[in-house]
Amino acid sequence: MPQLRLKLLEPHRTSLEKCVYCPKLSRAACPVSNVEANETVTPWGKMSMAYFAGRGDVPLDAGHADPAWACSACYACRERCDHKNEVATVLTDARAEFFARGLAPEGARLAAARFQAREDARGGELDALSRAEAGPAAVQVLLGCGYVRHAPDVARDALDATEALTGAPVRPVRACCGLPLLYAGDREGFVAAARRLAAEVAQAERFVAVDPGCARAVRVEYARAGVSARAPELFVDLARASLDRLQRSSSERRVRYHDPCQLGRGLDRYDAPREILARITGRPPEEFIHRREHADCSGGGGLVPATRPASSAAIADGRIAEHRALGGGLLVTHCAQSLRRFRTRGEPAEDLASLVARAVAPR
Ligand code: SF4
Ligand code: SF4
Repeated sequence: MPQLRLKLLEPHRTSLEKCVYCPKLSRAACPVSNVEANETVTPWGKMSMAYFAGRGDVPLDAGHADPAWACSACYACRERCDHKNEVATVLTDARAEFFARGLAPEGARLAAARFQAREDARGGELDALSRAEAGPAAVQVLLGCGYVRHAPDVARDALDATEALTGAPVRPVRACCGLPLLYAGDREGFVAAARRLAAEVAQAERFVAVDPGCARAVRVEYARAGVSARAPELFVDLARASLDRLQRSSSERRVRYHDPCQLGRGLDRYDAPREILARITGRPPEEFIHRREHADCSGGGGLVPATRPASSAAIADGRIAEHRALGGGLLVTHCAQSLRRFRTRGEPAEDLASLVARAVAPR
Protein backbone atom coordinates (compact mmCIF):
# COMPACT_ATOMS: atom_id res chain seq x y z
CA MET A 1 0.00 0.00 0.00
CA PRO A 2 1.56 3.36 -0.98
CA GLN A 3 2.40 5.76 1.85
CA LEU A 4 0.20 8.82 2.23
CA ARG A 5 1.93 11.84 0.75
CA LEU A 6 1.06 13.83 3.92
CA LYS A 7 3.45 11.95 6.21
CA LEU A 8 1.98 13.06 9.53
CA LEU A 9 -1.29 11.40 8.50
CA GLU A 10 0.22 7.96 7.95
CA PRO A 11 -0.08 6.91 11.64
CA HIS A 12 -3.74 7.94 11.46
CA ARG A 13 -4.56 5.88 8.36
CA THR A 14 -6.86 3.49 10.21
CA SER A 15 -8.79 6.33 11.85
CA LEU A 16 -9.09 8.14 8.55
CA GLU A 17 -10.38 5.06 6.76
CA LYS A 18 -12.93 4.37 9.49
CA CYS A 19 -14.29 7.87 9.05
CA VAL A 20 -14.34 7.75 5.26
CA TYR A 21 -16.46 4.58 5.28
CA CYS A 22 -18.65 5.62 8.22
CA PRO A 23 -22.30 6.69 7.93
CA LYS A 24 -21.40 9.91 9.79
CA LEU A 25 -22.48 8.70 13.22
CA SER A 26 -20.79 11.60 15.03
CA ARG A 27 -22.30 14.23 12.80
CA ALA A 28 -24.71 15.75 15.33
CA ALA A 29 -21.91 16.28 17.85
CA CYS A 30 -19.90 18.74 15.81
CA PRO A 31 -20.48 22.38 16.78
CA VAL A 32 -18.91 23.70 13.58
CA SER A 33 -20.95 21.67 11.11
CA ASN A 34 -24.07 22.30 13.19
CA VAL A 35 -23.80 26.08 12.77
CA GLU A 36 -22.46 25.99 9.20
CA ALA A 37 -24.91 23.32 7.99
CA ASN A 38 -22.30 22.06 5.57
CA GLU A 39 -21.43 18.39 4.99
CA THR A 40 -17.82 19.26 4.21
CA VAL A 41 -17.17 20.33 7.79
CA THR A 42 -18.79 17.39 9.57
CA PRO A 43 -16.21 15.18 11.29
CA TRP A 44 -16.72 12.73 8.40
CA GLY A 45 -16.23 15.48 5.80
CA LYS A 46 -13.08 16.87 7.40
CA MET A 47 -11.52 13.46 7.87
CA SER A 48 -12.45 12.42 4.34
CA MET A 49 -10.91 15.56 2.85
CA ALA A 50 -7.70 15.04 4.83
CA TYR A 51 -7.59 11.42 3.68
CA PHE A 52 -8.18 12.29 0.03
CA ALA A 53 -5.52 15.02 0.23
CA GLY A 54 -3.13 12.56 1.86
CA ARG A 55 -3.75 9.95 -0.82
CA GLY A 56 -3.45 12.39 -3.70
CA ASP A 57 -7.09 12.07 -4.76
CA VAL A 58 -7.61 15.85 -4.61
CA PRO A 59 -5.17 18.68 -5.36
CA LEU A 60 -3.14 20.07 -2.49
CA ASP A 61 -4.55 23.57 -2.46
CA ALA A 62 -6.03 26.04 0.01
CA GLY A 63 -9.61 25.00 -0.76
CA HIS A 64 -9.00 21.36 0.11
CA ALA A 65 -6.88 22.33 3.14
CA ASP A 66 -9.45 24.69 4.65
CA PRO A 67 -11.79 22.11 6.31
CA ALA A 68 -8.94 20.99 8.59
CA TRP A 69 -9.32 24.34 10.40
CA ALA A 70 -13.09 23.91 10.82
CA CYS A 71 -12.54 22.13 14.12
CA SER A 72 -12.65 23.64 17.60
CA ALA A 73 -10.73 20.66 19.02
CA CYS A 74 -13.71 19.94 21.26
CA TYR A 75 -13.41 16.11 21.09
CA ALA A 76 -17.23 15.80 21.10
CA CYS A 77 -17.24 13.57 18.02
CA ARG A 78 -14.94 11.10 19.79
CA GLU A 79 -17.60 10.51 22.44
CA ARG A 80 -20.17 9.61 19.77
CA CYS A 81 -17.80 7.39 17.81
CA ASP A 82 -17.76 3.62 18.30
CA HIS A 83 -14.05 3.67 17.47
CA LYS A 84 -13.30 6.69 19.71
CA ASN A 85 -11.62 8.26 16.71
CA GLU A 86 -9.43 11.21 17.68
CA VAL A 87 -10.62 13.49 14.88
CA ALA A 88 -9.20 16.67 16.45
CA THR A 89 -5.75 15.11 16.72
CA VAL A 90 -5.77 13.92 13.13
CA LEU A 91 -6.91 17.32 11.89
CA THR A 92 -4.21 19.02 13.96
CA ASP A 93 -1.62 16.93 12.15
CA ALA A 94 -3.29 17.65 8.81
CA ARG A 95 -3.00 21.36 9.59
CA ALA A 96 0.74 20.98 10.08
CA GLU A 97 1.12 19.37 6.66
CA PHE A 98 -0.97 22.06 4.95
CA PHE A 99 0.72 24.91 6.84
CA ALA A 100 4.15 23.67 5.79
CA ARG A 101 2.99 23.91 2.17
CA GLY A 102 1.68 27.47 2.55
CA LEU A 103 -1.97 26.32 2.40
CA ALA A 104 -3.21 27.51 5.79
CA PRO A 105 -6.14 29.94 5.87
CA GLU A 106 -5.37 33.59 6.52
CA GLY A 107 -6.53 33.53 10.16
CA ALA A 108 -4.11 30.71 10.96
CA ARG A 109 -1.20 32.35 9.12
CA LEU A 110 -1.82 35.62 10.94
CA ALA A 111 -2.05 33.89 14.31
CA ALA A 112 1.32 32.23 13.73
CA ALA A 113 2.90 35.45 12.46
CA ARG A 114 1.65 37.42 15.47
CA PHE A 115 2.84 34.88 17.99
CA GLN A 116 6.29 36.35 18.55
CA ALA A 117 4.97 39.92 18.84
CA ARG A 118 2.47 38.69 21.42
CA GLU A 119 5.21 36.85 23.28
CA ASP A 120 7.15 40.11 23.53
CA ALA A 121 4.08 41.99 24.81
CA ARG A 122 3.39 39.21 27.32
CA GLY A 123 6.55 40.09 29.22
CA GLY A 124 5.01 43.40 30.31
CA GLU A 125 1.64 41.80 31.04
CA LEU A 126 3.29 39.19 33.24
CA ASP A 127 5.45 41.78 34.99
CA ALA A 128 2.23 43.48 36.06
CA LEU A 129 1.10 40.21 37.67
CA SER A 130 4.40 39.12 39.20
CA ARG A 131 5.07 39.14 42.91
CA ALA A 132 8.26 40.89 43.91
CA GLU A 133 8.95 38.38 46.66
CA ALA A 134 8.80 35.34 44.38
CA GLY A 135 12.22 33.76 44.09
CA PRO A 136 13.52 30.85 42.05
CA ALA A 137 11.98 28.30 44.41
CA ALA A 138 8.46 29.68 43.92
CA VAL A 139 5.61 27.63 42.57
CA GLN A 140 5.63 28.29 38.85
CA VAL A 141 2.16 28.92 37.49
CA LEU A 142 1.28 28.48 33.83
CA LEU A 143 -1.67 30.86 33.71
CA GLY A 144 -2.56 30.70 30.02
CA CYS A 145 -2.13 33.58 27.57
CA GLY A 146 -5.89 33.83 27.18
CA TYR A 147 -6.22 34.80 30.85
CA VAL A 148 -3.13 37.03 30.90
CA ARG A 149 -4.13 38.98 27.82
CA HIS A 150 -7.91 38.99 27.92
CA ALA A 151 -8.87 38.31 31.53
CA PRO A 152 -6.10 39.69 33.78
CA ASP A 153 -8.63 39.75 36.63
CA VAL A 154 -8.79 35.96 36.47
CA ALA A 155 -5.02 35.64 36.05
CA ARG A 156 -4.54 37.62 39.25
CA ASP A 157 -7.19 35.57 41.06
CA ALA A 158 -5.54 32.33 39.92
CA LEU A 159 -2.17 33.47 41.24
CA ASP A 160 -3.69 34.57 44.56
CA ALA A 161 -5.58 31.31 44.92
CA THR A 162 -2.55 29.18 44.02
CA GLU A 163 -0.44 31.06 46.55
CA ALA A 164 -3.07 30.54 49.24
CA LEU A 165 -3.60 26.86 48.39
CA THR A 166 0.09 25.93 48.21
CA GLY A 167 1.30 28.25 50.97
CA ALA A 168 4.30 29.17 48.83
CA PRO A 169 5.23 32.22 46.77
CA VAL A 170 4.14 31.94 43.16
CA ARG A 171 5.62 33.12 39.92
CA PRO A 172 3.91 33.13 36.52
CA VAL A 173 5.65 31.08 33.85
CA ARG A 174 6.88 33.46 31.17
CA ALA A 175 6.88 31.07 28.21
CA CYS A 176 3.69 30.32 26.29
CA CYS A 177 2.80 26.64 25.87
CA GLY A 178 2.62 27.23 22.11
CA LEU A 179 -0.92 25.91 21.62
CA PRO A 180 -1.88 28.73 19.20
CA LEU A 181 0.99 27.63 16.96
CA LEU A 182 -0.10 24.00 17.13
CA TYR A 183 -3.61 24.95 16.07
CA ALA A 184 -2.30 27.30 13.39
CA GLY A 185 -0.34 24.37 11.95
CA ASP A 186 3.10 25.83 12.66
CA ARG A 187 4.65 22.63 14.01
CA GLU A 188 8.18 23.96 14.01
CA GLY A 189 7.13 27.02 16.01
CA PHE A 190 5.14 24.83 18.40
CA VAL A 191 8.12 22.58 19.11
CA ALA A 192 10.34 25.62 19.75
CA ALA A 193 7.75 27.09 22.16
CA ALA A 194 7.39 23.74 23.91
CA ARG A 195 11.14 23.50 24.42
CA ARG A 196 11.26 27.01 25.89
CA LEU A 197 8.53 26.21 28.36
CA ALA A 198 10.02 22.82 29.26
CA ALA A 199 13.36 24.48 30.04
CA GLU A 200 11.76 27.22 32.13
CA VAL A 201 9.83 24.87 34.42
CA ALA A 202 12.43 22.09 34.64
CA GLN A 203 13.82 23.21 38.00
CA ALA A 204 10.63 24.48 39.60
CA GLU A 205 9.71 23.05 42.96
CA ARG A 206 6.09 22.88 41.86
CA PHE A 207 4.50 23.54 38.49
CA VAL A 208 0.79 24.33 38.30
CA ALA A 209 -1.28 24.98 35.16
CA VAL A 210 -4.48 27.00 35.33
CA ASP A 211 -5.80 26.94 31.76
CA PRO A 212 -6.72 23.36 30.81
CA GLY A 213 -5.78 23.95 27.16
CA CYS A 214 -2.22 24.75 28.23
CA ALA A 215 -2.21 21.85 30.67
CA ARG A 216 -3.33 19.40 28.00
CA ALA A 217 -0.81 20.79 25.55
CA VAL A 218 2.03 20.09 27.98
CA ARG A 219 0.67 16.76 29.16
CA VAL A 220 -0.41 15.33 25.80
CA GLU A 221 0.70 17.37 22.79
CA TYR A 222 4.33 17.85 23.83
CA ALA A 223 4.91 14.11 23.85
CA ARG A 224 3.31 13.80 20.42
CA ALA A 225 5.68 16.48 19.16
CA GLY A 226 8.69 14.73 20.73
CA VAL A 227 9.27 17.28 23.52
CA SER A 228 9.82 16.02 27.03
CA ALA A 229 8.50 18.25 29.83
CA ARG A 230 7.39 17.77 33.38
CA ALA A 231 3.64 17.42 33.70
CA PRO A 232 1.90 20.29 35.47
CA GLU A 233 -0.47 19.86 38.38
CA LEU A 234 -3.92 21.18 37.51
CA PHE A 235 -5.27 24.18 39.38
CA VAL A 236 -8.62 22.45 39.61
CA ASP A 237 -7.02 19.43 41.32
CA LEU A 238 -5.23 21.71 43.74
CA ALA A 239 -8.50 23.34 44.73
CA ARG A 240 -10.33 20.00 44.84
CA ALA A 241 -7.71 18.65 47.26
CA SER A 242 -8.39 21.58 49.63
CA LEU A 243 -12.16 21.63 49.66
CA ASP A 244 -12.14 22.04 53.43
CA ARG A 245 -10.35 25.37 52.98
CA LEU A 246 -13.02 26.80 50.71
CA GLN A 247 -15.50 28.88 52.64
CA ARG A 248 -19.17 28.93 51.80
CA SER A 249 -20.11 32.22 50.24
CA SER A 250 -23.44 33.82 50.88
CA SER A 251 -22.93 36.21 47.97
CA GLU A 252 -22.46 33.65 45.19
CA ARG A 253 -25.57 33.53 43.06
CA ARG A 254 -27.09 30.44 41.52
CA VAL A 255 -24.38 29.19 39.18
CA ARG A 256 -24.43 27.05 36.07
CA TYR A 257 -21.29 25.19 35.09
CA HIS A 258 -20.06 24.95 31.51
CA ASP A 259 -17.73 21.96 30.96
CA PRO A 260 -14.77 23.34 28.99
CA CYS A 261 -13.82 20.85 26.28
CA GLN A 262 -10.14 20.88 27.23
CA LEU A 263 -10.82 20.25 30.91
CA GLY A 264 -13.65 17.75 30.48
CA ARG A 265 -13.10 15.59 27.42
CA GLY A 266 -9.49 16.77 27.18
CA LEU A 267 -8.37 16.00 30.73
CA ASP A 268 -11.28 13.98 32.13
CA ARG A 269 -12.13 16.44 34.90
CA TYR A 270 -15.88 16.54 35.41
CA ASP A 271 -16.45 16.02 39.14
CA ALA A 272 -13.76 18.29 40.61
CA PRO A 273 -15.18 21.61 39.34
CA ARG A 274 -18.68 20.59 40.39
CA GLU A 275 -17.51 19.63 43.87
CA ILE A 276 -15.70 22.96 44.22
CA LEU A 277 -18.77 24.92 43.15
CA ALA A 278 -21.03 22.90 45.44
CA ARG A 279 -18.70 23.60 48.34
CA ILE A 280 -18.63 27.35 47.67
CA THR A 281 -22.31 27.88 46.88
CA GLY A 282 -23.79 25.24 49.15
CA ARG A 283 -25.48 23.30 46.37
CA PRO A 284 -24.59 21.50 43.15
CA PRO A 285 -24.32 23.82 40.16
CA GLU A 286 -27.13 24.02 37.63
CA GLU A 287 -26.51 22.00 34.49
CA PHE A 288 -26.85 22.41 30.75
CA ILE A 289 -28.92 19.84 28.85
CA HIS A 290 -25.72 18.38 27.39
CA ARG A 291 -23.05 18.10 30.04
CA ARG A 292 -19.92 16.28 31.07
CA GLU A 293 -18.73 13.95 28.22
CA HIS A 294 -21.49 15.25 25.96
CA ALA A 295 -21.26 18.94 26.80
CA ASP A 296 -21.55 21.39 23.93
CA CYS A 297 -18.56 23.48 22.93
CA SER A 298 -18.34 27.26 23.47
CA GLY A 299 -16.71 27.80 20.05
CA GLY A 300 -13.51 29.18 21.56
CA GLY A 301 -11.01 26.43 20.79
CA GLY A 302 -8.90 25.20 17.91
CA LEU A 303 -8.27 28.74 16.65
CA VAL A 304 -11.82 28.76 15.27
CA PRO A 305 -12.37 32.33 16.56
CA ALA A 306 -9.53 33.38 14.23
CA THR A 307 -10.23 31.17 11.24
CA ARG A 308 -14.06 31.09 11.30
CA PRO A 309 -15.15 33.98 13.52
CA ALA A 310 -18.81 33.91 12.50
CA SER A 311 -19.10 30.20 13.27
CA SER A 312 -17.31 30.63 16.57
CA ALA A 313 -19.67 33.43 17.59
CA ALA A 314 -22.73 31.42 16.54
CA ILE A 315 -21.58 28.43 18.61
CA ALA A 316 -21.09 30.65 21.69
CA ASP A 317 -24.45 32.33 21.14
CA GLY A 318 -26.13 28.93 21.15
CA ARG A 319 -24.57 28.00 24.46
CA ILE A 320 -25.52 31.35 26.00
CA ALA A 321 -29.08 31.11 24.68
CA GLU A 322 -29.45 27.69 26.30
CA HIS A 323 -28.07 29.03 29.58
CA ARG A 324 -30.64 31.83 29.58
CA ALA A 325 -33.49 29.59 28.48
CA LEU A 326 -32.73 27.28 31.39
CA GLY A 327 -33.08 30.11 33.86
CA GLY A 328 -29.74 31.89 33.66
CA GLY A 329 -27.72 32.64 36.78
CA LEU A 330 -23.97 33.06 36.95
CA LEU A 331 -22.30 31.15 34.12
CA VAL A 332 -19.04 29.64 35.40
CA THR A 333 -16.38 27.99 33.31
CA HIS A 334 -12.72 27.16 33.77
CA CYS A 335 -10.97 27.86 30.48
CA ALA A 336 -9.69 31.15 29.10
CA GLN A 337 -11.09 30.53 25.64
CA SER A 338 -14.64 29.75 26.72
CA LEU A 339 -14.57 32.59 29.25
CA ARG A 340 -13.59 35.01 26.53
CA ARG A 341 -16.20 33.65 24.15
CA PHE A 342 -18.97 34.09 26.72
CA ARG A 343 -17.85 37.54 27.83
CA THR A 344 -17.38 38.92 24.33
CA ARG A 345 -20.79 37.61 23.31
CA GLY A 346 -22.47 39.47 26.15
CA GLU A 347 -22.66 36.95 28.99
CA PRO A 348 -20.88 38.14 32.17
CA ALA A 349 -19.35 34.74 32.89
CA GLU A 350 -16.83 34.05 35.62
CA ASP A 351 -13.99 31.61 35.95
CA LEU A 352 -13.81 28.96 38.64
CA ALA A 353 -10.40 30.36 39.64
CA SER A 354 -12.02 33.63 40.70
CA LEU A 355 -14.60 31.88 42.84
CA VAL A 356 -11.85 29.83 44.47
CA ALA A 357 -9.76 32.95 45.12
CA ARG A 358 -12.69 34.58 46.91
CA ALA A 359 -13.48 31.44 48.91
CA VAL A 360 -10.09 30.18 49.98
CA ALA A 361 -9.29 30.68 53.63
CA PRO A 362 -5.74 31.48 54.71
CA ARG A 363 -3.82 28.65 56.36
S1 SF4 B 1 -15.42 10.04 14.14
FE1 SF4 B 1 -16.27 7.95 14.26
S2 SF4 B 1 -18.51 8.24 14.08
FE2 SF4 B 1 -17.51 10.14 13.33
S3 SF4 B 1 -17.31 9.86 11.10
FE3 SF4 B 1 -15.40 9.15 12.05
S4 SF4 B 1 -15.68 6.93 12.35
FE4 SF4 B 1 -17.71 7.85 12.02
S1 SF4 C 1 -13.39 17.72 17.63
FE1 SF4 C 1 -15.31 18.92 17.83
S2 SF4 C 1 -15.16 20.54 16.28
FE2 SF4 C 1 -13.60 18.98 15.77
S3 SF4 C 1 -14.62 17.65 14.30
FE3 SF4 C 1 -14.94 16.74 16.31
S4 SF4 C 1 -16.92 17.56 17.03
FE4 SF4 C 1 -16.23 18.84 15.29
